[in-house]
Amino acid sequence: MSSLVHAHAAILSIGDELVRGQTLDTNSRLLSSRLMQLGIETVEHATVGDDLGALVGAIKRLASRAPLVIATGGLGPTDDDLTRDALAAVLGDRLVEDPDALAQLSDRLRSRGREVSAAQRMQALRPERAQCLRNDFGTAPGLFARIRVEGAEADIFCLPGPPGELVPMWESLVVPQLRPEPGLTIRTRFLKLVGIPEAEAASRVPGIMARDASPQVGITASGGILTWRIRYRGPMPPAAAESEVDRVAQCIIDAMGEHVFATGEVTLAAAVLDALKARTQMFATVESCTGGLLGAQLTAVPGSSAAFAGGFVTYTNALKQSLVGVRSETLDAHGAVSAECAREMAAGGVERTGADWCVSITGIAGPDGGTAEKPVGTVHVGLAKREHSGARVSSRAFRIPGGRDDVRERSAMSALAMLWFALRGKDPSAKLLWEQETGSV
Ligand code: AMP
Ligand code: MG
Repeated sequence: MSSLVHAHAAILSIGDELVRGQTLDTNSRLLSSRLMQLGIETVEHATVGDDLGALVGAIKRLASRAPLVIATGGLGPTDDDLTRDALAAVLGDRLVEDPDALAQLSDRLRSRGREVSAAQRMQALRPERAQCLRNDFGTAPGLFARIRVEGAEADIFCLPGPPGELVPMWESLVVPQLRPEPGLTIRTRFLKLVGIPEAEAASRVPGIMARDASPQVGITASGGILTWRIRYRGPMPPAAAESEVDRVAQCIIDAMGEHVFATGEVTLAAAVLDALKARTQMFATVESCTGGLLGAQLTAVPGSSAAFAGGFVTYTNALKQSLVGVRSETLDAHGAVSAECAREMAAGGVERTGADWCVSITGIAGPDGGTAEKPVGTVHVGLAKREHSGARVSSRAFRIPGGRDDVRERSAMSALAMLWFALRGKDPSAKLLWEQETGSV
């Protein structure tokens, strides 16, 4: 078969659970970013339910738009798995049984002490002119076909929906078949920042986001983190494109200073851990309203044990006293949600763990528990640094807008941001994104 240039791609996600909002379509995101790394731009994401007519229509439409279509889902053994039938209808082919696919399926089931049922056997069917793609991680093989719609040709790869099957099949069976446009180079870079609002960041590099500039630059704010995106797309050889992206990235980094915590898809937790590792220091957490969320974010980073000692979840006043030594006088005089309590929690964390640093979080996540003086969203973050004689302690008060999840997420983020700035030797009281935008303190 002559090879087709996959100048761009379209992605089709299939499943009732997706269109009904029960499952988040993470496959499209994953595939788009993988395609982008290979220099193939995605022009559309489409999602359809388990409906033959809808599937046939979507495949035809996407194939007329892009020379490469990647579909996921609907390949299983049940009556709502209709991708095989839809592809057969688009091709005008009948379904035939693929002997290799059947042999693989029965080997797989036999190794688990089972026989191939009639329903399972359906998975070895393919449209006559399609090829099966071997699945070593599940029972449903994928499918590949060249289709022609309205005079346009497109390659379609149909892959199983579960990411654990999709990803290895993508890597081993699809990537080697892809043909990005020759002579086209795409390079992207992300810079991630904390503690600076979008408008301020943009004003420091005037003109950089001009729509006709190359590389193109964009900015997004989400969850208290700002991301600069730099993207080159054009005829330059890869090395030259890379250095163009480097040049623009450096220009942004120079203007943003210590606010930049990462280049690439790195979380603030990972960046803080790296900064601590570079100094061979350890830190600990004492969490109240976040209930271990910060610890979970830290331990999600591989290798976190090199810098994260562990943490206390001190939800009640009693545990704040018994685990990290908060004084009852402090609680009586100021309450648990106070700068004083946050400071004692952080100091106690350093003392009881022997870590170099400790951050503490105490606040009112809501929806109940707020008062006029301490409304929902009032959060105090303490920061302690171990010194020869005890700990040097500081704290910050935040008024975080939003619901319970927002308050908890941003409390954890604020604690990391404070530690980040402290490790950079900068003022940990730098206002964070939403504080600057809402004017709250
Ligand atoms: P299927 O191949 O249609 O039987 O899909 C099986 C399972 O894969 C679904 O129940 C989902 O858990 C998962 N899945 C399917 N499509 C997607 C998608 N687009 N994003 C994330 N998970 C998916
Ligand atoms: Mg399905």
